[in-house]
Amino acid sequence: MAYKLLILGAASATPTSTQYTTSQLLTMREQLFLIDCGEGCQQQLRRNRAKMSRIHHIFISHLHGDHYFGLIGLISSFHLQRRTKTLHVYGPPALENIIQVQLKASKTWLSYPLEFHPTQADKVEHILDGEKVDVYSIPLVHGIASTGFKFVEKPSLRKLNVEAVEKYGVEESDRRNLQLGQDWVSSQGETIPNTALTQDPIPPLSYAFCSDTQYSEAVIPAVSGVDLLYHESTFTKRERSLAEITKHSTAGDAAQIAAQANVRTLVLGHYSSRYKTRDVHLREAREYFPEVIAGTENLCIHVDHDSIHAVQE
Ligand SMILES: [Zn+2]
Ligand SMILES: [Zn+2]
Repeated sequence: MAYKLLILGAASATPTSTQYTTSQLLTMREQLFLIDCGEGCQQQLRRNRAKMSRIHHIFISHLHGDHYFGLIGLISSFHLQRRTKTLHVYGPPALENIIQVQLKASKTWLSYPLEFHPTQADKVEHILDGEKVDVYSIPLVHGIASTGFKFVEKPSLRKLNVEAVEKYGVEESDRRNLQLGQDWVSSQGETIPNTALTQDPIPPLSYAFCSDTQYSEAVIPAVSGVDLLYHESTFTKRERSLAEITKHSTAGDAAQIAAQANVRTLVLGHYSSRYKTRDVHLREAREYFPEVIAGTENLCIHVDHDSIHAVQE
């Protein structure tokens, strides 16, 4: 099933009048997942008419301010809107205390349950076993503990081979088990293998988010084969030494990871404010990997099995 990724902020460090720090909204299997929550995230959600009341899961990569300074504002607005549904926040262990201190200082007793799920930056973890989507955290290499996230659709049920099912006279009540992969036993006791009655389901789609991080091949197995990979690309080749000092990546680094992980498309972001256009980032990335999109504010990337295309909202 198709999914879409809306880039709310693609700048690093400081926002400008038109650029926002990292935030993305992923809509996968009718669920909304907010990934990082930089300053201005809330305004960007409103600008894009996102259904904010449908956000139940927020994922924070690390505790540099450009990735979560919008979070307390969003949590507070949900309260003012009399939200009642539980909000799940996944992020570094210290995040819970940071948010609780702010809520206590303002004597805010939230109208809804807020549940924190601490992430660990030393191994891949399965952090959300959802009904329709699985989420994994991925260790990154940065100045402080930082994780990426991978979102994978749950596998669909097997597709019934209608002709075969009717030929064998499989009862309606047995068809669900076929879709779950079981063989079928006829009333005469004959076992018909599942593959004679069903076809493989549509393969699940996936999205991986890697920010912030220096070039690290350790991330490749975790993001291998994803349909869309976001990888930070703060710098271009000219600032290679700065990338190393600050533990960030260049556009070429991001593209090398995309190529080695054999993903379908790479999206860049987290640009340093020194660059006025994305041209050099794109050119340098395409030296290593052809399918590159420059992530920018309000760009919506639509991903399905046949195509990946971006629309400026
Ligand atoms: Zn950052
Ligand atoms: Zn950072």
